[in-house]
Amino acid sequence: MDIADKQNKEYINGSKTTPAVFIKTYGCQMNERDSEAIAGMLSRLGYRLVDHESLADILIFNTCSVRDQAERKAIGKIGLMKKLKQQRPGLIVGVMGCMAQNRGEELIQSLPHLDFVIGSGQLHKLPETLDAIIANRHKISLLSLNDEILTSMGMHHEGFLKIASCQAYIAITRGCNRFCSYCIVPRVRGREISRSERDVLAEARQLVDSGVREIILLGQNVAAYGLHGDTRPPTANISPFAALLTKLSAIEGLYRIRFTSPYPSYFNNRLISTIADLPKVCRHIHLPLQSGSDRVLQRMNRQYTAGQYLDIVNKLRERVPDISFSTDIIVGFPGETDADFNATRAIMRKVDFDNAFIFKYSPRSGTPAAREKQQTPQKIREERNQLLLADQKIRTAAHNKQLVGTIQEILVEGPSKRNSQHWNGKTTNARGVMFTPSPTIRSGQLLRIRIQRCSAASLFGVVEDDLKPL
Ligand code: SF4
Repeated sequence: MDIADKQNKEYINGSKTTPAVFIKTYGCQMNERDSEAIAGMLSRLGYRLVDHESLADILIFNTCSVRDQAERKAIGKIGLMKKLKQQRPGLIVGVMGCMAQNRGEELIQSLPHLDFVIGSGQLHKLPETLDAIIANRHKISLLSLNDEILTSMGMHHEGFLKIASCQAYIAITRGCNRFCSYCIVPRVRGREISRSERDVLAEARQLVDSGVREIILLGQNVAAYGLHGDTRPPTANISPFAALLTKLSAIEGLYRIRFTSPYPSYFNNRLISTIADLPKVCRHIHLPLQSGSDRVLQRMNRQYTAGQYLDIVNKLRERVPDISFSTDIIVGFPGETDADFNATRAIMRKVDFDNAFIFKYSPRSGTPAAREKQQTPQKIREERNQLLLADQKIRTAAHNKQLVGTIQEILVEGPSKRNSQHWNGKTTNARGVMFTPSPTIRSGQLLRIRIQRCSAASLFGVVEDDLKPL
């Protein structure tokens, strides 16, 4: 009997020795949040969390399907676990998340060393799945998508907040109804669904009571929160998302609120003025653009034009002059011409993004864009990607340079992973700042930092003084 087997048996027999779990996360912040929730759920049940697969009795891969590369990376890694399982037959290996949802049965067939696949809507069933596997050693797949997901959306791990102890994710919506022609999310995460305001506020209060100072609201389209899946962007005076921001802002002890990602068309006057009026809402918006060409936006089934996108940016800048923007861009969408690409380049210049996540188009099987005949050659996708990355690097560096000599308010996150002599924090504009801490400085504190120098991606400074919370 190997160690994993022995521990599993002991666990079943009620001994104090419980299996060790290693969780590997791929993809977006929603997956990071789900992994936190899984970790919380299992540790509350007495499982031990370990940080290397060699120490684990249970391996969980929380996967992403948004890009082909993410899937290939995860499949490669899971494939390598076959050898480990041959050496230790008691090891339990499972796949969760979007790839599990998308390719569940196929994964069980092609990777026979897998014990379970659990789709993105069933993660709360992990404990009972593990119990069943430990007891009977049979394979399990749970792939239905329904309202049960609301059960798991409120789960988090109080002692295991991955980003920093003072920050936490809160999932407010799940799934998406927008059906952008390149995107697999509506298929793997299901239809859009919002948690109740009461649940979100209760989770936020609980997190703040446990020391969290910044919350990051998550959803495929957070700005559609509370609209019951209506795909028509709301009229000027309706925004349940704005109402939620207002109520969250009233929580004492919470310093900052961020959110990602909002679909641009939902930025009506109500939402814009709410953001402007609430100082706790960070002065940085991640606003996915995807393309600057109206022709491409239409083919992507994005329901705004480049002009409408710019209007939203301008309105936000009018009301909140110090606001900064980041975005997502897809280059090499099927049929993207030089003129389309140049339109993207031009609007990126105009908005003057602080940061941009630029992706080469990756066809996802089952989406309308993948069926387009006119796929952009890989070489052109690569060239355009490099051009946009180079443009953005210059812009980000120029923004950082402008801040040298200024004083910036940061929320202290904790010691830097690269250099423990330095600590990290973020400005309201989501710019990372490194500084040398004094012994009294704590994660979750607001500090004023004098910026002394910068690199292409970071700011470096010294502590000016502590700040009173808002
Ligand atoms: S808004 Fe579009 S890109 Fe975003 S998750 Fe929904 S379908 Fe995908």
